[in-house]
Amino acid sequence: MSIIDSLGMLIARKWIAGVDLGHAMREAKKYNSKKENVIMNYLGEDLKSKKLVEQNKGQILALLDRMHSEKIKGSIAVKPTQIGIAISKSYFAANYSEILEKASVCEFTVWLDMEQFEYVKGTIDMYLRFCRKYDTGICIQAKLRQSLKDIQRIVKQNGRIRLVKGAYKYTNAISFQEKQEVYSNYIKCMDYLFAHSKKFMIATHDERIINIARNKEKKTGKKIQFGMLKGIRPQLAAKLAESEDMNIYMPYGEQWLEYSMRRLSEWEHAKIILRSIMQG
Ligand SMILES: Cc1cc2nc3c(=O)[nH]c(=O)nc-3n(C[C@H](O)[C@H](O)[C@H](O)COP(=O)(O)OP(=O)(O)OC[C@H]3O[C@@H](n4cnc5c(N)ncnc54)[C@H](O)[C@@H]3O)c2cc1C
Repeated sequence: MSIIDSLGMLIARKWIAGVDLGHAMREAKKYNSKKENVIMNYLGEDLKSKKLVEQNKGQILALLDRMHSEKIKGSIAVKPTQIGIAISKSYFAANYSEILEKASVCEFTVWLDMEQFEYVKGTIDMYLRFCRKYDTGICIQAKLRQSLKDIQRIVKQNGRIRLVKGAYKYTNAISFQEKQEVYSNYIKCMDYLFAHSKKFMIATHDERIINIARNKEKKTGKKIQFGMLKGIRPQLAAKLAESEDMNIYMPYGEQWLEYSMRRLSEWEHAKIILRSIMQG
């Protein structure tokens, strides 16, 4: 590993559970012991070759076996581009259903992550083909202007949503640009979920949203799930886990760079921290 890679890995360890399954399982158990469930994610995205998809699928199936044998409390998340959406619809369907079959034997939920806009429709369509038969959920990005409509369509078919703000950059035509607009749309989508969905996850580190969600839980008597990313506001996550169904998204694997770059770009204090690391 070069010095740059080592430095990058040092920073990435904040968000990543390690480079292999052994590391990931040790980290998952640590979180489980604090009453935090894990959403395990073998890192891989933007795959255009069947060979790479097969390798990733093998790792995901092995992850399910290991989570089952180690009695991990949690679920898994997969990226559509990791299991073939960019290759063909039928290949994507075959891989998704193979993972769902295995997960149902091992008794874990499979979450479909949401990626760039070009994959949103294909991901939702594929999810709706399988969501009645298997225990599976889908991520929806509140920053997209169309998301409330997508949520209504999914909830009507009994689908389960994990609501996030959205980690990708889009044009004004398809997405809200201002933080306040994204926040308002998140609240709109969450209100709809409280009114119409039986089970869903509020995945954010935004304390304003978390507080509104907790008040709604009290008012409606509906118990929901909360989600946060490993390494972001861990004290808040631990506190919530005392009384809420808390789920920590825990990526691991060799492909840590893309994911870490997204987290770094959202980290308001990143520049200050990086500067202090570089200055020793
Ligand atoms: C469980 C889970 C699953 C996710 N899955 C997806 C997915 O499939 N697709 C997708 O597009 N996005 C996904 N995301 C990412 C999400 O879209 C946001 O990019 C991310 O959660 C930051 O938004 P926020 O809601 O926390 O609000 P923000 O307004 O970005 O953050 C609220 C506060 O959290 C803290 N914070 C946020 N990010 C960081 C950071 N990187 N470092 C340090 N502090 C930070 C800050 O205190 C900030 O003020 C997921 C997020 C979670 C929690």
